[in-house]
Amino acid sequence: MPTPELKQPGDVRVRIRAAALNHLDLFVVGGLPGVTITSPWPLGADGCGVVDAVGAEAGGLIEGDYVTINPGISDRTCEYCREGEQPLCPRFGILGEHFPGTIAEYVVVPAVNLRTIPTTIEPERAAAFLLVTLTAWRMVVTRARVRPDEDVLIWGIGGGVALAALEICKKIGARVWVVSSSDEKLRRARELGADEVLNRTTMDVARVIRERTKKRGMDVVIDNVGRDTWSQSLLALGRRGRLVTCGATSGPMVETDVRRLFWNQWSILGSTMGNDAEFDAVVGELRAGRLSVTVDSVFSLADGRAAFERLASGQQFGKVVVRLS
Ligand SMILES: [Zn+2]
Repeated sequence: MPTPELKQPGDVRVRIRAAALNHLDLFVVGGLPGVTITSPWPLGADGCGVVDAVGAEAGGLIEGDYVTINPGISDRTCEYCREGEQPLCPRFGILGEHFPGTIAEYVVVPAVNLRTIPTTIEPERAAAFLLVTLTAWRMVVTRARVRPDEDVLIWGIGGGVALAALEICKKIGARVWVVSSSDEKLRRARELGADEVLNRTTMDVARVIRERTKKRGMDVVIDNVGRDTWSQSLLALGRRGRLVTCGATSGPMVETDVRRLFWNQWSILGSTMGNDAEFDAVVGELRAGRLSVTVDSVFSLADGRAAFERLASGQQFGKVVVRLS
C-alpha cells in the first residue's frame, strides 16, 4: 500500500513499531453493521511508534518523537467533545474500524491522539498497554468509581481489559474476584493480585459468591462477556451494586429482572474507550511505571494471520502483539 499522506494541518504520520490486537479487530474481520470495509484495509487500533511527518498544527510534536496512540477519533466540535467527553461524540470513530489502522508500517492520526512516552518502554508493551488500560480506567475509575475495600467481580480474566481492570482495582485497594474457565489463567491472575479466583466450569459463580460474602454480594461487577454471564453477574451483585460493561463478546442480548434492578437499587453502566483526560491519566501511569500490561505473545507482520488466530482461540493471557520491522 502507498505510504499514507497527511490530510489535515493537525495530522501526524507515525511509523509504527508495534501494534496490539483487540477483540474489536475480530469483529471488524467478521463484519460489523454499518461499517463497510474496502480491501486492502489495515486493521488494528493499538499502536506505538515514531513520528515520521507532522502537519503545520501538530501540537509541538516533532519528527523522531516516540509516541503512543489513542485510537478514538472524534470531531472535537460537538457538545460532548467540548465537555471533554470525546467517546460520546456522534462522529466518533476508531482506528482499524472507521479509519485505516495500526497494523501497518505507517498510520496517520490527529496530533491530539498522540502522547510522547519514554523510549525505555518497549514498543510491544507500549502498544499492548493503551486501549485496554484506557477502557478499564474509564470503567473502574470514572464510571463505577471503585473505592478501597469494595468487592469487585471481573469476568474472563486473561482478556486485556479484564487484566487491566484487575490491576487498576488492586491499585485502588479493592478486593478483586476473578472468573475464568482455565485454572492456569486463574493461577496467573492470583500472581497478579487477584484475591479470589473462581472457575466457572466447576462452580456456580453467583452461588459461591453469595456464600463467601454471607449473601452480601459484589459492590461492582465488570462484565464484558454479555449473554453468557449477564444473569450470573446480576445474581452476584449486591444491594446498591454497579454493573459496568464495555463489551459483549458472547452476544449482545441479555435478560434483566427489572424487579431486582429497582429493589436492589442497582446501577447498570455502559462505558467505551476513554476521553482525553483519561488518556492523559493512563499515559501518566505508564510513564511512571505505576501500571503495566501482560503481553501474551508477539508476532511478526508476516505472521499477522497467526496473531489473529491466537486472539480468536481465547487461549491467550494478555495482549497479542504484532511487531513491525
Ligand atoms: Zn464530538
